Formats: sequence, C-alpha cells, structure tokens
Amino acid sequence: MSAYKRVHNFNPGPSVLPVPVLEQAQAEMLDYQGTGMSVMEMSHRSKEFETIIQTAEADLRELLGIPQNYKVMFLQGGASLQFAMVAMNLRAAGASADYIITGAWSRTAFKEAQKLGNTRVVFNGESENFTRLPEDAEMSFDPNAAYVHFCHNETIHGVEFKREPVVPEGVPLVCDMSSDFLSQPIDVSKYGVIYAGAQKNAGPAGVTIVIVREDLLARVPEKLPVMLDYKVLAESGSLHNTPPCYAIYITGLVLKWLKGLGGLTKMYEINRQKADMVYKVIDESGGFYRGHARPEARSIMNIPFRLPNEQLEDTFVKEAKKADLIGLKGHRSVGGLRASLYNALPLESAQALVEFMKDFQQRYG
Ligand SMILES: *Cc1c(COP(=O)(O)O)cnc(C)c1O
Repeated sequence: MSAYKRVHNFNPGPSVLPVPVLEQAQAEMLDYQGTGMSVMEMSHRSKEFETIIQTAEADLRELLGIPQNYKVMFLQGGASLQFAMVAMNLRAAGASADYIITGAWSRTAFKEAQKLGNTRVVFNGESENFTRLPEDAEMSFDPNAAYVHFCHNETIHGVEFKREPVVPEGVPLVCDMSSDFLSQPIDVSKYGVIYAGAQKNAGPAGVTIVIVREDLLARVPEKLPVMLDYKVLAESGSLHNTPPCYAIYITGLVLKWLKGLGGLTKMYEINRQKADMVYKVIDESGGFYRGHARPEARSIMNIPFRLPNEQLEDTFVKEAKKADLIGLKGHRSVGGLRASLYNALPLESAQALVEFMKDFQQRYG
C-alpha cells in the first residue's frame, strides 16, 4: 500500500499523527495551493495563512462545540507556560486559587502557581501514588477562589476524569487537557479555561491551544508582558507576533481529519475500543500485568502498567521494539511500561500490542 515503513507508535508525546495528515503535508510541502512556497515560508500576515488559522479555529469550534462567548488562542510555550499564565491572568493580587492534584502534571501546575501567589490544595493523591481521582465530597473548595485548576488526564499516571469536579457556583474551572484534548466530546460551557499542548493529541509540538471564556479577560491585570497577556493575545487573534505557523497548519489538518472521521463522538468510540482491548489483557493476565490506576480512574489515552519485575520490563521494551512496537517505556517516575493510545494510533496498532502482550505472557509468565 505504501512505500514507507510505519511503526506502531505508542510515544507519549510528541506522538503519532494521522498518515493522511502527513501525506497531505508532504504533498503541499513545496507548493502550498499554488503559492509556490511551503507554509513555513509564507508571511503570517498573508491571506493564505489567515485562511489557515481561521479555518483551524472554525473547525475546532465545530468539533468541540465551543460557544460564541469563548476565545480561542494558538500560543507557544507549551502547557507548561500555561501553568504560570493562568495564575498571572486570572488570579488578582491577594486572591487565591484551588488546585486538585491527581498526578505529576497537576502537581507541576500547582507548584508554578504557588510561586506567583496564594494557592490551596483541595486534593492531593500523591500519598496513594496518584492511582485515583477524588470524590466530590472529599474536596472543600474556597467559595471565593479565583478558579479551580485540574488536569483532565494525567499523562504519566494514567488517571482521567470522567466528568468535571463539582465546584462552587461562580468559580471558574481551569483545565489542563493536553493529553486527552479532542479524544472525546466535552461540554466547554462548564469551563472557564481549557488549555492543551498540541503534541499529544492535536498536532505537532510548538503550539498550545487555549480556550478562554470572554468575561474572564476582564480580570487580566494591567502591564503584564504582552506575550503573557491573554487579553492582548486573544484580541489579536493569536497574531500579536509571529505564531507557530507550521504547527498551526498541521493542527488544522488534524482537525479536518477528525471531522472526516465523524467528529469526537466517533473518535471516542474508537478510543474506547482501543483502551478496552489493552485493559482486558491486563485484567485477564492473572496479575502478570498490573495497571497503575484504579479501574474507575483509568485513562483511555495513557495506560501505565507493570510486570512482575524490572528485568522482565526491560525485556518487554526490547522485544516490543524488535516487533516495531515503540514508545512503551514508562515514565521514570512511575517505572514499568506505558502505552499511549492517542487519537491517531490506528486500531491495528492497539491490536498488535494486545497480541504481543498475550504472547509475551505465554513465553515469560
Ligand atoms: C505533556 C504535558 C504537559 C507539558 O506540556 P509541554 O507542552 O511540554 O509544556 C502538561 N500537562 C500535561 C497533561 C501533559 O501531558
């Protein structure tokens, strides 16, 4: 079918992209739609690029059902910069923000915000090694909090919220959605801010998508450096300075691909199917494979799991690589293995992993 080799790519991020997207980018590389240049070589003020960024925003709005009273921004600095920007823009001097800590990423978000002002922790799963989500009843929120921050899917620990935490009336929810952005339908109207680095599920590294409810922009303090100022960035349509043009273009192609597939409901169905296949092998392995997250908290995107010992885990990674299953080594803080099953990972790759896991257990179990 194709002249090149594609591996089964379980990389946690940057990660697999849809083949049709890469093929289109390849076809348009030297001459983008008759312009005689690539998207990398054109002005970010050109008509062509304006169409690229506006179409990407329109497609994103359609896919997620983003209401009119939200702004969409395509920024740089990764989700990591948003950890600080959220606090700088939305938490007024003297105000406090609440943080739900369910894994390594929300812990980092909290630490960044803590450097810049008052911050409370309403849940911290660290003592339980980040294996579960909080119950609403165990969190007591500050009714005057500037916002409540949480991470929808913890990429390293593999715990994923199934619904939004219930917070006091009027307190906006701020969410790091980097690693399950566009993996399923989301009710954007429940959020004040959603941000996501593209390189997990939406595109290449270099662009971070930030969706912010317009009324919150009134909180942005005077005299922030312009590149950290949501108001400036939102009002300029992400074009205050040169945006990450090529990353936005590829993200736009991914959004078209998602639309062509049938949108986020369909995407979720496929993601569910892939994740269920892998969890089934774990659950039916008689303890040979042990999932990190508790079953009710399990992520459909990132599945960290352990084997009986570290030596076997090394062997697993090595043999998997030989079988073209790559990116399965777990994060150093959790150890073991991790399978990332992002949108663009084909069903056949999940199937190949499942077959490999069963075979591996037969040989070493
Ligand atoms: C990868 C990741 C980040 C960090 O993203 P950068 O773009 O590298 O800053 C933050 N949060 C989550 C949930 C992630 O998966």
